[in-house]
Amino acid sequence: MTDHAAIETALKQRLSALTGEVDAIGAELSTPLDADFSEQANELEGQDALKSVEAVQLGEIDAIHAALARIEAGSYGQCRVCGKDIAPARLVALPTASTCIACAA
Ligand SMILES: [Zn+2]
Repeated sequence: MTDHAAIETALKQRLSALTGEVDAIGAELSTPLDADFSEQANELEGQDALKSVEAVQLGEIDAIHAALARIEAGSYGQCRVCGKDIAPARLVALPTASTCIACAA
């Protein structure tokens, strides 16, 4: 399997969706807190939740960038630990996988 065009397209679509979501969270987090003190507590709680969502999304963005770089470099689909081909089913389930199932364990 050397043609990763479909995966590349899917990864790029996911990347732009994620980038939009992270931008939206960033905008939400930069809004000033409510002047009402009891409202502030609620807002801070909401911000903590948003920050953890943002952290997960930023991690996925990094993984997608890395996968796109591997497609570019021609090493996509190869395990970065043992160098063997990653099972196609694993790549379908997890397109950003950089290790085979044995090495991921
Ligand atoms: Zn491996």
